[in-house]
Amino acid sequence: MPQPSLSSPAVPSTPSEPTATCDVAIVGAGVTGMTIACALKDSGLRVISIDAAEREAAAARTQVYALTLLTGQIFDGIGVWERILPKICTFKQIHLSDRGRLGVQFQTGDLGTEQLGYVAEHSVLLSALHEFADDRCSQLTWICPAQVQGVEYDSEGVNLHVEADGRSRTIRARVLLAADGKHSRIRGLAGIGTRGWKYWQSCITTKVRPQKGHGNIAYERFWPSGPFAILPLPGNRCNVVWTAPHAEAKALAALDDEQFLVELKKRYGEAMGEIEPIGERFVFPVQLMQSDRYVLPRLALVGDAAHCCHPVGGQGLNLGIRDAAAIAQILQEAHKNGEDLGSLKVLKRYERWRKGENLTILGFTDFLDRLFSNRWLPSVMLRQVGLWGLRHVSPLRRLALRLMTGQLGRHPQLVRR
Ligand SMILES: Cc1cc2nc3c(=O)[nH]c(=O)nc-3n(C[C@H](O)[C@H](O)[C@H](O)COP(=O)(O)OP(=O)(O)OC[C@H]3O[C@@H](n4cnc5c(N)ncnc54)[C@H](O)[C@@H]3O)c2cc1C
Repeated sequence: MPQPSLSSPAVPSTPSEPTATCDVAIVGAGVTGMTIACALKDSGLRVISIDAAEREAAAARTQVYALTLLTGQIFDGIGVWERILPKICTFKQIHLSDRGRLGVQFQTGDLGTEQLGYVAEHSVLLSALHEFADDRCSQLTWICPAQVQGVEYDSEGVNLHVEADGRSRTIRARVLLAADGKHSRIRGLAGIGTRGWKYWQSCITTKVRPQKGHGNIAYERFWPSGPFAILPLPGNRCNVVWTAPHAEAKALAALDDEQFLVELKKRYGEAMGEIEPIGERFVFPVQLMQSDRYVLPRLALVGDAAHCCHPVGGQGLNLGIRDAAAIAQILQEAHKNGEDLGSLKVLKRYERWRKGENLTILGFTDFLDRLFSNRWLPSVMLRQVGLWGLRHVSPLRRLALRLMTGQLGRHPQLVRR
């Protein structure tokens, strides 16, 4: 791991003088922030990455993500995919259904690809990005655990006041990227507002082991209370993402194992035989959020700091990885052309690229959740027509798959077609 240059003898005694300077400061070294850092590996830009958590603690999260084909292509373009792919699950079929009936089966033949997506554990992704950064990102300096105390912007750059190892330090950067998640402190300090809403649902996630093989199939079953997804993991494990109204989700999470299993089996179905719970249960509130703006002079918001969406369809992190590839490309191009990296002119290119595309997916996931999470007759009829269309009209099926696998929209140059 490259050591922070902060420990150099040149550290001044007053915290307001920069103790380190860089071109790009990234606050938040989650998957989104680390993807930017790794994508900038050959850019010639000096990068400082700051996170509130210790590296090991950040990687220890038990979350699981469905990853799109585009995300795999972006990681491949960076060069980190070969460290990830052997440790994750590839799925070749998606079964989508209304209350476990009236299903549509998406196959690889619908897209002409070898797979339809992947399922990865957070620890696998972040550890691979950490190792890649250690091996390949010599221009990256890492500061964690560290708390950002304040940010000052001026016409030439930005000063970040950071508390790390019990010391106050000032980091000077030409541009600041906020990848610090949905409660982004950097977004708040910059006074950027957000729009959106909290859903009436929460999401329970847990891992199970089915008696029979999961067959590398991803299931999305819509129930009136909310979507229920089963995602295949290596070692014949599955990750369950179960959305239900808040009170119901809370009550389900509080059940003892035996009762929880009874409820789980009602949604899970019989296809994989008996199921054995093998993990803790976590409950997440669900919200849709879009920041009013993604950029200001010297600042860009990336990933959940800029937007977040309902987990149906597993899109949130995938959008963040697209943002990461886009901002990395724009900064590299600006650097090559001798432009000012933090100027609004440069950063607006990122906002124009990503804000509309993200909004499309936010809107689509919201539409899916609202359409299926009720028993209202017109909705029931509309979704039956929609599922019929997906089953029988190939171009419609292909379009839906292209949208959800990240094939629509502008692709970053990192993607090798
Ligand atoms: C139940 C559920 C299921 C989901 N399933 C999927 C899925 O299948 N596929 C998918 O693509 N997405 C999914 N998502 C969405 C996904 O979890 C998020 O989009 C993703 O975690 C966002 O990543 P990020 O790196 O932008 O932010 P985060 O993961 O929130 O990372 C932020 C980082 O910033 C650091 N940080 C925070 N504050 C500070 C600070 N003040 N100073 C310094 N560092 C700070 C944190 O320590 C952390 O490392 C799901 C979400 C939920 C709730």
